[in-house]
Amino acid sequence: MGFTDILGQGWAISLLRRTIETSRIPHALVFTGPKGVGRFLTATTVAKALNCLGDVQGDCCDRCLSCTKIAKGVHPDVHLLAPEGSSLKIDQVRGLNQEVTLRPYEGRRKVFILDQAETMTEQAQNALLKTLEEPPGRAVLVLIAPEVSALLPTLASRCSQIRFGPLPENVVAARLQEEGCDDAESHFLASLAGGSLGRAQELRTSPLQEIRGLVEETFALPTGKILPVLDLAERVVRQKETLSLFLEALLAWCRDLTVSKVTHREALLVYRNRGLALQRQSEGLALDQLLTMYHTVKQTIDGLGRYANPRLSLEVMFLKLRDLQAA
Ligand SMILES: [Zn+2]
Repeated sequence: MGFTDILGQGWAISLLRRTIETSRIPHALVFTGPKGVGRFLTATTVAKALNCLGDVQGDCCDRCLSCTKIAKGVHPDVHLLAPEGSSLKIDQVRGLNQEVTLRPYEGRRKVFILDQAETMTEQAQNALLKTLEEPPGRAVLVLIAPEVSALLPTLASRCSQIRFGPLPENVVAARLQEEGCDDAESHFLASLAGGSLGRAQELRTSPLQEIRGLVEETFALPTGKILPVLDLAERVVRQKETLSLFLEALLAWCRDLTVSKVTHREALLVYRNRGLALQRQSEGLALDQLLTMYHTVKQTIDGLGRYANPRLSLEVMFLKLRDLQAA
């Protein structure tokens, strides 16, 4: 993969290509942005471009010995530091500080990629500061973090920030389709993943069918009975790993109800292949009812983010949604 294969980060990529072409790449960079939008892939590509043996300006050939070694993670001048356990530790940074002073073994530039740099302990960050205060000539450090504020200000101020934004939904969907996903599914995943291709790819392995089944059950709860509500809440809570995904999927359904009511355009739906069911359901409901349903789910999500009791929150939410629908 070269820079041209990186999706949807035009500004960041053209800036990097320019600095590489003109040999003015900063000694320390921090790539900020959400997970799964190409920060790590870009860091590896920077390492390849700086060391490529092919005749490519401001990019890499992705075929030469150097590019191949970097792709396999065995190039002696390209180092990846990832958290050991839950954090990047001071010993890892000490190792980097030693290595960084040595001349490249076979490449032109030494490159150090610090993945999840925000997990660096304070001691580790202070240790890294020493290297950044007097950066050795041929080394480039790429820190990957969600935002600069996740790093100590003294450290952040010595790094040039390159921002990576969320990817447009159609870009994520198109890539998923290339990977064999069908049209409806790819748009469903892309919209739940909120602009992160990595997250969308992860979601593909979730029990989506089951989650969609639970979403439909939510709107089929019989009025006047409490047991089915308790039972549904119980089943949803039991699957801890997919609880937040279920709520996102439910929120998307509520959003779709409003979109379906207002526009009747299937192409705008998250649940593209459920257009008819959405239309039928939304026809029986007023717009303010639909908006209240959306906010009910949103409030539950926010509440759980603040450690509300999951089972109780779900029971209340299901009851509210059911009664709003019956009103
Ligand atoms: Zn190459």
